[in-house]
Amino acid sequence: MRGKIIRLYKKADKKGFALGAFNFSTNEILKGIIFAAKKLKAPIIISTSEGERNFFGCEESVAVYNAIRKKYPHVILHADHTKSFKELKKIIDAGYPSVHFDGSKLSFRHNVRETKRAADYAHSKNVFIEGELGGITGGSTTHKERLKDVLTEDILTKPEQAKEFVELTGVDSLAISIGNAHGIWKDKPKLDFERLKDIKKRTGKFLVLHGGSGISAKDFRKSISLGINKININTELRVAYAHSLLKSLNKREDYTPYHYLKDVSAAISKVVEEKIIIFKADKKI
Ligand SMILES: [Zn+2]
Repeated sequence: MRGKIIRLYKKADKKGFALGAFNFSTNEILKGIIFAAKKLKAPIIISTSEGERNFFGCEESVAVYNAIRKKYPHVILHADHTKSFKELKKIIDAGYPSVHFDGSKLSFRHNVRETKRAADYAHSKNVFIEGELGGITGGSTTHKERLKDVLTEDILTKPEQAKEFVELTGVDSLAISIGNAHGIWKDKPKLDFERLKDIKKRTGKFLVLHGGSGISAKDFRKSISLGINKININTELRVAYAHSLLKSLNKREDYTPYHYLKDVSAAISKVVEEKIIIFKADKKI
């Protein structure tokens, strides 16, 4: 599977589009994501954080993914932010074809050592692996603070260190910190495009932008033109889900889940469709 995933990233890199990675924790979210991808003929990544896969189930995610790709093969299941070798191994052994190892809280030396161990294991199982260097602050929620008050220069990815990191670890792609953060903040994130350009030039790797919720269409397009190949979206889906569900439940006295959850799937689809178009990933299959 790793070869196939690498080919897809290469296609994105060459054609100037980014793969959208959308998180799910329930089946109606998944339905909404896949509906949008099919409609726009876009290759797509479906992703689970640790909390999401604990809720959905790790084996269950793999089983549903295998069922989906029989009908729509342009999907990749990806595990977001695994933070220990034990967790990573559990996910790979369950059948995830793509994983993210997040050692960003560790010292550089420690991050290199743990990520290399993770990459060696992933590659031995033909699994694609994303590493992370530099800190990506916040959780996938709405924040009361302003990002510029909590984001400090020292957590941004250093281009020269990024080169060393990818060479020492052998990761297939790299998540970077260029002013992006998880969640939606009071202010808009201010991306450091010069840094992004420098990281791409030095590493030549597929690059990943976490914390896509809240970034403007213009900044997404510019990031893609400078070498971002995958963009993660989670919070905007969570917000759309909650708003739609509350609205549907208030609207009518109808206790049939597949009636009101249909609206939730449609709300998810709408957000995913918008992003696919911004990422220029439509009509790419
Ligand atoms: Zn993330």
